[in-house]
Amino acid sequence: MSRISRREFAKRLSAAMGSAAAFFSADLPAWARGREAAFPGSPMQKNAGKRPIMISSANGYHFGGMRVGYEKLAAGADTLDAAIACVNMNETNPDDMSVGYGGLPDENGVVQLDSCVMHGPTMQCGAVGAIENVKTPSLVAKAIMDNTDEIFFVGRGATEFAKSMGFEMVDLLTDRARRAWVLWRETRSLYDSWGAGLDSPDYEKMQEMKKRGPDFAYFVQKKAAELGIPEDEREVAVNAVLHPPHGTINCQALNAKGEISGVTTTSGLAWKIPGRVGDSPIIGAGNYVDGEVGAGGSTGRGEENIRVAGGHTLVELMRQGKTPMEACLETLRRVQHFFKAYPERLKKVEIQFYALRVDGAYAAATLWGPRPGQKPAQFAVNDGTNRLEDMAYLLKWDG
Ligand code: ASP
Repeated sequence: MSRISRREFAKRLSAAMGSAAAFFSADLPAWARGREAAFPGSPMQKNAGKRPIMISSANGYHFGGMRVGYEKLAAGADTLDAAIACVNMNETNPDDMSVGYGGLPDENGVVQLDSCVMHGPTMQCGAVGAIENVKTPSLVAKAIMDNTDEIFFVGRGATEFAKSMGFEMVDLLTDRARRAWVLWRETRSLYDSWGAGLDSPDYEKMQEMKKRGPDFAYFVQKKAAELGIPEDEREVAVNAVLHPPHGTINCQALNAKGEISGVTTTSGLAWKIPGRVGDSPIIGAGNYVDGEVGAGGSTGRGEENIRVAGGHTLVELMRQGKTPMEACLETLRRVQHFFKAYPERLKKVEIQFYALRVDGAYAAATLWGPRPGQKPAQFAVNDGTNRLEDMAYLLKWDG
């Protein structure tokens, strides 16, 4: 693992800016103008900015949310309503197994969801953690913002609040997510009672496999077939067991007037310890907006983002004059900093930051560049053209 050189950084920065629609005008705040001048020749100074604009993690594109949200935004909807309309597409779609309905559950097979929303024009916000039985935690977070003098509800209280507001109560665990969870449970530990027991002809074989030797992946695959997981679901389920996935959507929306809002929503880390919440529902970590500066959000390992208060850090860096790209890379550097004593461990960290400034300049960056043979990570942008763009990254993967 190596930190990128100055020259490489500058090259990547200008490449990323080249692909980023950006905005520069006389009404750009002085702090931002000065900063852009530090990058002479950068398209940041030349390209006409496009507003309205929305950015999100790539799943905003894959599940249609960026199209739906942008239509609302362009039609004059409030920026927070537009951002929420985007993420509702993921929350209600059972095929997104990292957000809302159909999300992968906790250790006990219970789906608990986290979300927070922040409205730039008023600086109002709302949040829910470990809420159950509601498909759209983002809308519950907004209901807290709209209907109470409080901000953050968790667990049973959050669910009860949602019920009182008329949200439909549903079982969030789909059969597909349940099957993946059963697979995880049966293959997980040598020291529990799941899987073939002492009375089974397969006992020794199972114990051997659970030691997670080189055949472990094969064993999980085989077990998936034995459990009757349909072939077309198997790869996802097996991968979720081998590498418990994170997955979330962060979406930020800016309208033509320069108003901005953001939302983050997730089912969190698959197979998490019951009660665990990550960064997504934390205002200032998973999502933060300052109506005079911009929005910052994150996906990936929430534990790291909480430690750097990523959403707030992104916005503060932009307030100090950093571009969205610089803000994303600097926030990633702070994550890296915590691992200075254990650089090898950093390889286990997967985290992304997203930043949108009130002038329409935007960026997204991930900690690690693509592994050999892999394509760069992407994020979604809609400024009238709905598309995916490659993310910048801080560190080159060196295996
Ligand atoms: N940040 C989320 C969490 O830690 C998960 C993710 O984005 O992958 O719960």
